[in-house]
Amino acid sequence: MTQRIWNFSAGPAVLPESVLEEARDNLLSLGTTGIGILEHSHRGKAFLAVYEETVALCREIGNIPENYRVLFLQGGASTQFFMIPMNLLPRDRTADYLVTGAWSEKAVEEAVRFGGTHTACTSHDKNFSYIPATCTFSPNPVYAHYTSNNTIFGTQWSGLPPVPGGIDLICDASSDIFSRPIDVSKHAIVYAGAQKNLGPSGVTLVIMRDDLIERGSKDLPTMLQYRTHAKNDSMYNTPPTFAIYLVGLVLKWIKKGGGLSAMGELNQRKAGKLYAYLEQSRLFKGTAAADSRSQMNVTFVTGNADVDTKFCSAATKAGFDGLKGHRSVGGMRASIYNAFPEAGVDALIDFMRMFESENAV
Ligand code: PMP
Repeated sequence: MTQRIWNFSAGPAVLPESVLEEARDNLLSLGTTGIGILEHSHRGKAFLAVYEETVALCREIGNIPENYRVLFLQGGASTQFFMIPMNLLPRDRTADYLVTGAWSEKAVEEAVRFGGTHTACTSHDKNFSYIPATCTFSPNPVYAHYTSNNTIFGTQWSGLPPVPGGIDLICDASSDIFSRPIDVSKHAIVYAGAQKNLGPSGVTLVIMRDDLIERGSKDLPTMLQYRTHAKNDSMYNTPPTFAIYLVGLVLKWIKKGGGLSAMGELNQRKAGKLYAYLEQSRLFKGTAAADSRSQMNVTFVTGNADVDTKFCSAATKAGFDGLKGHRSVGGMRASIYNAFPEAGVDALIDFMRMFESENAV
């Protein structure tokens, strides 16, 4: 087999090797069924067992209270950008958005199609390089929406945003879901595309408080009503069976590794090493404000676009893939989600040190 390299992709992203091996072993026959995981009917006993185990693991690992539903939907987190306001935001009401990056902006853009929106805070003034310290909420918002980790800009809310009690809080956790303990009970909805921390692309986890499910209009297309998916255990239509299976394997891997607190410690250590190196580097510099740094996406620059390009191509040659930063930030981005090994972070720092010694002025 071709040797695997260090994959810093922002998503789809690296998956635990043991998960890939287990999936490979079940491609031709899921357990002793004689039918591969890709080939099982979603209505059959074998897949239903996979589905039920995945939901149960999700509840256990995320410490999800009884009065929340776990849904596996399609259309990516981007579909939640409109499905949430379409179901929950009446035309004559307002929803508040905490705008900390391009994905939050996209969420607002969809919400304005359905009702009023209010920007409770934004870090647009400094190219989203920080998490605002204060927010100003509208008088009676239907909900407040935030993006817990800003994949492109390398910033992350270190805790819950300062939302007054009684306001339903909705979180787009696409790029840090289950990377640290999460208090689901403080949220009305938590949603995340799976392709960074949970599995492959093609499935979106939506954790939703019961009372929200029936709120949406019954005139919406059937597939766009949450009640449809809640009533049918995410199987109103054919679900992405393989993606759900893989999420189950990743959740088992998280559980075996000690759950979310162990994951949180590991992620803090991995990101901490990289930020510590950046702080003392004479060549590289982090782009996120110190109190807003992401543990998932570490963004950095040299301050010289040509040197950035030189670094990226040297890194690619040395087996470090996916380090080129998003065009709106430039420079580099190391995405180090749950499954990215600590050894890869160590290897990157060694490589950066070497590059620095050859290129620093
Ligand atoms: N929100 C965040 C924070 C993201 O990082 C992304 C994708 N990178 C999205 C939403 C969009 O997700 P999807 O591609 O699953 O629609």
